[in-house]
Amino acid sequence: MGKRRTFFFDGLGVSGGVVLGPAYVLEQLGYEAESRTLDPEEVEAEIERFHRAIELATEEVRELGRMVAERLDPQQAAIFDAHVTLLSDPLLINRTEERIRNDLRNAEFVLWNVTRDIGSQLQALGDAYFSERTHDLYDVSRRVIKFLGQLRHPEGDTLPAGSIVVANDLGPSDTAQLRRDKVAAFATNAGGPASHTAIMAKALQIPAVVGLDFVTHYVRTGDFLIVDGSLGHVILNPNEEQILFYRERAEEWRRTREGLEEFRTLAAETIDGTRVAMEANIEFASELDLVLNQGAEGIGLFRTEYFFIDRKTLPSESEQEEAYTMVMTAMDGRPVVFRTLDVGGDKIASSIPTPPEANPFLGLRALRLSLAYPELFRRQIRPMVRAARSRELKILLPMVSCLEEVWEARRLIDEAVADVEAEGDGLPERLLVGAMIEIPAAALQAEVLAAELDFLSIGTNDLVQYTLAVDRVNKLVGHLYQQVHPAVLQLIRRVVRAADERGIPVSVCGEMASDPVLAMVLVGLGVRSLSMSPQFIPPVKKLIRSMELPALEELAERLLHLNTPTEARSALEEAFREKRGGPLPAIEKARRFLPEA
Ligand code: PEP
Ligand code: MG
Repeated sequence: MGKRRTFFFDGLGVSGGVVLGPAYVLEQLGYEAESRTLDPEEVEAEIERFHRAIELATEEVRELGRMVAERLDPQQAAIFDAHVTLLSDPLLINRTEERIRNDLRNAEFVLWNVTRDIGSQLQALGDAYFSERTHDLYDVSRRVIKFLGQLRHPEGDTLPAGSIVVANDLGPSDTAQLRRDKVAAFATNAGGPASHTAIMAKALQIPAVVGLDFVTHYVRTGDFLIVDGSLGHVILNPNEEQILFYRERAEEWRRTREGLEEFRTLAAETIDGTRVAMEANIEFASELDLVLNQGAEGIGLFRTEYFFIDRKTLPSESEQEEAYTMVMTAMDGRPVVFRTLDVGGDKIASSIPTPPEANPFLGLRALRLSLAYPELFRRQIRPMVRAARSRELKILLPMVSCLEEVWEARRLIDEAVADVEAEGDGLPERLLVGAMIEIPAAALQAEVLAAELDFLSIGTNDLVQYTLAVDRVNKLVGHLYQQVHPAVLQLIRRVVRAADERGIPVSVCGEMASDPVLAMVLVGLGVRSLSMSPQFIPPVKKLIRSMELPALEELAERLLHLNTPTEARSALEEAFREKRGGPLPAIEKARRFLPEA
């Protein structure tokens, strides 16, 4: 075999670590669409729904093409023109329409099957050009299906161990389906810094690079890859020099992690004695080992919705009770905060049928969904109440936008408690209800909310998204997703002050808490409780233990009054340069591998 060409991709590193190994491309073919039978009188409406989805997908592709042409490279934008043409392809459209009529099946199911048929005919031609077109065809159909319903990937655990999974995009349910012992790293075309894929990769401690644009166009299953989840690099067919360099980086990463061992058991305390509580964010009960061995003092955020994702039917109350009890028992009296169902946005629970929405992040998400389906909500609260028998139960409401939602949720919680009481079961010793502050309106009304709630938790991932109107999963606006934007910092300070004045606890559970430098800004703003993916507890502790509170307060005060996020970032870099011993040498060295501008 001749020497293969090296390709270097520069993406967004969202979960640290360096891996060298074989690629496994999650083929579009592996996906399946849900099938539904139609009544004959539903056919016309279904065809109309299909056409509307084509229109929306075409608009989206045109817009993408325009942006890529302006911001990146006009040549790369040509691919979008090809996609627009495919979206009006008579073969694709007529066949789909015909089969909706004849087979009486839903549009997404039919479209996906038609796509596969045409795709395999193209593949059978055995020509590189047509094989490339197949890729485009799948891409286009997936885009249309996004506006119709969803696709699932049942490939789950057939992966060979040590695989670097390469995909167009991985939703939280795809990530949840992939077996952690098989996947060594992720590399995806799509994805932003606070996407739930990024969060899952961190939780599973799997190195990941997202936002690589076209990586799936180049990589084939079995190709040799390097993924550097800290620097955001992916290299296809690396040369000797690159292999040596990244092997060293992998070793360096391992040594750094080892060097943090001693911090696991030490308190998170500044030099001058200010204590910060360090809690863990979890998605699954299976993460408990990591929580305990990384020195978490409690669970500050249990994202219970992962129980509802990746399954066709709702979990029963007893199934939920078992998992919640397992978490409470393992934490042995340490605080556990149960966040109620937060599906919607980029977290789709197939067990909860919801209509497709044009703006899911602004739609029927989180608490709104629970309030729209009260029995679904009570069905989640009852097992929590039972699991917390004679202990303290902390319930956290996601995406609160106004006080009425809190009243309504409290009423439903009281009903669920009464149901458990009527069964004659023991009740929690104390029940505390808190709100996530992740919508600017809630931050601006923090005083009002603090007066009625027992605790607050700031979800910076969404607070940044909604304050700056930047979709947290959209790479095209990723550069605007600035956690240190002075507007965001001002909102955080306001919430902290409101909670302090009311004498209720407030913590931060968004990704900001897990970045050591940003965590210092939070401490400077008055935050005394941080919750993060457990692997970040030691590095955050290490930095806290080297700081003095007045310096952090001064820094936070300065950032609050800067005019732009860029100024804030530069000020932070300046402030922490010495602590980090200059710019990270690895970044400097790796620059030589970057493609010529
Ligand atoms: C947040 O928005 O910051 C948060 C912690 O919730 P999630 O990331 O699950 O939306
Ligand atoms: Mg959130």
